Formats: sequence, C-alpha cells, structure tokens
Amino acid sequence: MKQINWTNTIFLIATPIIALTGVPYLIWTGRLHGATWILALGMSMITGLSITAGYHRLFTHRSYEARWLLRLFFLIFGAASFENSAKHWCSDHREHHLHVDQEPDPYNINKGFLWAHMGWVFFKKPSGHVINNIPDLMKDPLIRFQDRYYYPIALLAGFALPAGIASLWGDPWGGLLLAGVARTVFNHHATFLINSFCHFIGRQPYSDQDTSKDSWLMAFLTFGEGFHNFHHAFQADYRNGFRFFHWDPTKWMIWILAKARLAKNLRRIPKEKILLAKLRLKEKREQASRGVKNLIEGIAFNGDKTVFFNHHS
Ligand SMILES: [Zn+2]
Ligand SMILES: [Zn+2]
Repeated sequence: MKQINWTNTIFLIATPIIALTGVPYLIWTGRLHGATWILALGMSMITGLSITAGYHRLFTHRSYEARWLLRLFFLIFGAASFENSAKHWCSDHREHHLHVDQEPDPYNINKGFLWAHMGWVFFKKPSGHVINNIPDLMKDPLIRFQDRYYYPIALLAGFALPAGIASLWGDPWGGLLLAGVARTVFNHHATFLINSFCHFIGRQPYSDQDTSKDSWLMAFLTFGEGFHNFHHAFQADYRNGFRFFHWDPTKWMIWILAKARLAKNLRRIPKEKILLAKLRLKEKREQASRGVKNLIEGIAFNGDKTVFFNHHS
C-alpha cells in the first residue's frame, strides 16, 4: 500500500466515474448546450496536440525547435491534460525509449497490457529514483516554472477555463464536466493506448527490435501517434507518419507552425534511410520464411526416406 500514488489513483478512478455519470445526467436533463460540445472538441484538440507536438515531439525528442510563446502554450495546455508536468512526462518517456520492454521502462509491456496502459500510474517511483535524463530541459525556465506550479496551472487551464468559457452561454457545469473532466478522461486513455495497444497489436514495418507497432486506428485516436513502430525506429523525426497520406495531424500542425515562424529546424530522417530499414526487414523476414520452408522440405524429405527404409525393411 505504501507504494501506491494516491493522488494519481483517486484522480484516475474518480474522473471516469464523474464523467460517466455527470455528462449523461446533463444530457438527460437537457442542460447541456450545443456550444459546449464544440468547446469540448476544441479543448481536446488543443490539449491533445500540446501533449503530442509539445511534451512528446518537442520536449522529449527535440525533433524541432519552438519559440518561447509556443513552448508556454504547450506547457499550459499540456498541464491541462493532467498527465503530470513536462519534466516528469519527458523523463519517463526518455526512459521508455532507452530501455523499451525492459525493467527500467516505466510502461514496460512485458509486465502486461494493463500495467503498460495505466497500471504504472497508480504506483510511486521506486525509492532512490532520480531524474537525470533531461538536463537540456531543466535549462528551460518555462519547464521549471510549469513543474513548480503544475497543479494550479492544470486546474485553471483544464477545469476552470472550460467552465468559465461555457458560462458565457450559461453552461458552466457542462463546460466543467464535458470539456473539463470527460475530455481529460479521453486525453488520458488516448495517451495510454500508445503505451499499451501500440506495443501489443499492429504491424512492424521498420524494426523488429522491440514491441512497438504501427496502427492506423490508434493514429486516428491520437493525432498521429499511432505510427509507433516508425517512431521507435526514428525517434528524432518530427513526423510519426512520414508519408504525406499518413494520418498525422501533429506533423501537419508542426509544419504549419514552422510556416508561421513559431517553430523551426524540423528534423526529418532521409527517405532512403527509412526505405532501407523497411527493405532490410522485409529481406530478413523472407530469408527466415525461406529457412522455415527449407526446414519443412528437409523434414518431409527425411520423413519420406524413413518411410522408404521402413518399406524395405
Ligand atoms: Zn517517443
Ligand atoms: Zn513506445
């Protein structure tokens, strides 16, 4: 029991209960305003993209650079996703990439689907755990500021802001419950699915060195983060779906932000390198299947021989 992180546990259990009872109640009593649905959609996009483009591709992987105003925006609305401060989120995620599928990986899939999905969030870090893999991030005063005031920022931007905006059309409870609480639950599970589903089900076109998988379904739910096999193979790339038709709204938004001069130095892995990785893996699989075929033929041949000798003996 001492290992349980009670703040996280209560929050992760209470928010879905509140969302699943509060929102239907408001709909049932006809009190949920149509504009509140649009607000919830807008909030979910802003907070979701602050995690994918901000916490993930900018801060953790440094796949591009951003002006301070954009970094501040990501930090405010990343906090509104209630997924911890950027300092902790990025440290965990760098640990995940470095030790993927092994013990130090915080969301190690080999400890089970549920553990990788959300189980790990219920527990405190082991005693003696130190954060020493984000020295570059700790130089940024905005990251330090967000970490220090994480709770007030998260509560203000994640709950008070949507309630305040929706009160403009007389629906503060709808703003709080739908665009605040229910939207947070959606954000949580979308992020969690990358750590669980995308290490469990899907294709591995670029690398078979770890459990990461590509999934179009997950890409739709997570602003493009579902191309997780590509991401593990080429984590320095600002794109997760590298082809123009790959559903990756995060990549499109970063590209637009670069055009608006809020982002720059977008890092792309050369196409040849990506295709080479794909071809090598294909070749490896073909060789392996040819090996199995030879083995089967060999066994069949030996089998015939045995029958042949048996027949004459
Ligand atoms: Zn990553
Ligand atoms: Zn992963």
